[in-house]
Amino acid sequence: MAGYRPEPDRDSGQWWERVARREFAVQRCDTCGAARFPARAFCPACRTEAWHWEEVEPEGVIESWIVNHQPFMPDLREPYLVVMVRLAAVPGCLVFGNWNGDRPPRYGERVRASFRPVDDRLTLVDWKPGATDDLGGSAGDDAQEGGGPGRERAESR
Ligand SMILES: [Zn+2]
Repeated sequence: MAGYRPEPDRDSGQWWERVARREFAVQRCDTCGAARFPARAFCPACRTEAWHWEEVEPEGVIESWIVNHQPFMPDLREPYLVVMVRLAAVPGCLVFGNWNGDRPPRYGERVRASFRPVDDRLTLVDWKPGATDDLGGSAGDDAQEGGGPGRERAESR
């Protein structure tokens, strides 16, 4: 078994190229302004084709998760957690990704994308707890601290 590997297609190829540059973008309809994800050729709301990429904060909220016992990816030891994240930028959109935390996820907690290069052609988007840690600490990026109820995090390192 060769292992699962996302295959960029005509619609998603540019998105994967951006992810490789550690950008997280969604499509924005030029006609009605609706954000959409994953990539597709026309707007599901107004059915026009004009759109542009818009880089957004790679943040979301944990909706649910599963423990995967099947080794889809060669570099992942089983079992591993796959989380379902409701994107902050596109509320109607749920995305899946590997959990990159040293504890189990919690329902409703805020998470942030973590870019994981697999090889020179593929970078995957994992999800990790919290908002702004480990991102190079760009100044003025912490305006959203304290936004959610019950944010707590063990920081023992
Ligand atoms: Zn539209």
